[in-house]
Amino acid sequence: MSSLSRFGHVIAGEPVAGQRWMPSYDPYLGEPWAEVAAGTADDVDAAVSAARRAYRDPAWRGLTPTARGALLLRLADLLAEHAEQLAVAETRDNGKLIAEMRAQMRYLPQWFRYFGGLADKVEGAVIPSDKPSMFNYTKPEPLGVVAAITPWNSPLLLTAWKLAPALAAGNTVVVKPSEFTSTSILPFLDLVARAGFPPGVINLVTGTGAEVGAALVEHPDVAAVAFTGGEASGRAVAASCGRKLIPATLELGGKSAQLVFADAILENAVKGVAGGIFAATGQTCVAGSRVLVERRILPEFLDRLSALAKGARMGDPMRDETEVGPVTTRQQLDRILGFIEHAKRDGAEVLIGGSRATRPECGQGWFVEPTIFTGVTPSMRIAQEEVFGPVACVIPFDSEEEAVAIANGTRFGLATGVWTRDLARAHRLAATVESGMVWVNTYRTSSPMSPFGGMKASGLGRENGAEAIRHYLQTKAVWMDFSETYPSPFVMRL
Ligand code: NAD
Repeated sequence: MSSLSRFGHVIAGEPVAGQRWMPSYDPYLGEPWAEVAAGTADDVDAAVSAARRAYRDPAWRGLTPTARGALLLRLADLLAEHAEQLAVAETRDNGKLIAEMRAQMRYLPQWFRYFGGLADKVEGAVIPSDKPSMFNYTKPEPLGVVAAITPWNSPLLLTAWKLAPALAAGNTVVVKPSEFTSTSILPFLDLVARAGFPPGVINLVTGTGAEVGAALVEHPDVAAVAFTGGEASGRAVAASCGRKLIPATLELGGKSAQLVFADAILENAVKGVAGGIFAATGQTCVAGSRVLVERRILPEFLDRLSALAKGARMGDPMRDETEVGPVTTRQQLDRILGFIEHAKRDGAEVLIGGSRATRPECGQGWFVEPTIFTGVTPSMRIAQEEVFGPVACVIPFDSEEEAVAIANGTRFGLATGVWTRDLARAHRLAATVESGMVWVNTYRTSSPMSPFGGMKASGLGRENGAEAIRHYLQTKAVWMDFSETYPSPFVMRL
């Protein structure tokens, strides 16, 4: 048996060992540090059955919305107490900076506070009646068992975005984390149990997307899917949900543009653009990978952006001072380097970076040098496909119209950054860019209160914000007739 720590499934509140195990790698060391259960369709069936039983059990179903909300608030308090432990677990697992994971974990409780508070504020309606003897009202009801499928870049944060509204609405959940980052959810689930959630309300099955993810989506007792991941997997999930006729929220990838106008506060724009593409080593769905710069400030902007990127400290993500860490998987490292080589062949010019990082502080880890391409045309592959790494392509523009046309010229539509001091222009752009989020003079800002999601191939539906809970509810319309007589049974009652 392996000497590495093993992380299994959690079904009906009990730990369940895997029949098979797969390695989980430390991206900084480039070597396995744990083993994760490689689940099967049988594990999925056991988890969905447990979630289905919990959904029908009065211990959960009988709770008032206020009592459900109180459980979420209790979990929020426990998460706040254990933020440091969870941050370390995340960094170990996915290699993102401890500084960023600390910030995420300290803020994580807010999702459970927001949706815990919302649990008993979701109202049905009394419908105005055109039939004097009838009373008609609506009731929001949960869906049943929700499958929550997450990627590797921010495992617990993106799990919380699904769990908090799904639970507040009264559903039960089976979580399927990325096969590359399946361990940090276990300390999280310990806190779920301590908060007092009945066993089976939240279950965990780990494993690959092809085996566990697909079986979960296809399971006949799964009533809805909340998915975050890449475009190709998102399309596969949507196709399964279409066949089953169940709803899905899809948070997919992007090729987001940052538009820098000559009137912007240049120092802020440089920081915002660097943060958009080099922070988190570019492994964010909202990575601002297309940097559109007004031509007359291009030289100065590039000088400043290159200087900032070159000076970023790379190395051990567990160290507080590190600014650029490794990428999470070996496959992703190869994929990013493949995109870089392809861009060079297409004629893009490397301004900085353009290779694997071999600095001594990067050791054997999976590091890519922060890379800036110039000489990019909007139709090049590097300007159209999501790289999910620290690779910016810079495209100059001469007018606002041209900038908007380039920004909207991809199949994605997740986020747009706008850097300008011209308020009228900021409002014009907020209205014309095709993306689910627009950040003006800021970037990568999020909150449980504000809807998050994409247009076009970046996804369907929104996470966060009060509207998100509606994805986990269905409306029942109830009619009551209080008249003493019944009209002709052969005519519809209109
Ligand atoms: P991925 O699509 O490979 O995997 C995401 C999850 O889906 C994993 O748990 C995986 O096992 C599972 N999966 C894969 N194929 C599946 C299938 N056929 N059926 C069911 N489940 C399946 O994505 P990734 O590489 O882990 O993450 C990176 C991607 O996630 C990027 O494209 C990024 O933009 C996207 N992302 C989007 C957001 C957002 O909110 N829009 C946030 C973070 C990441």
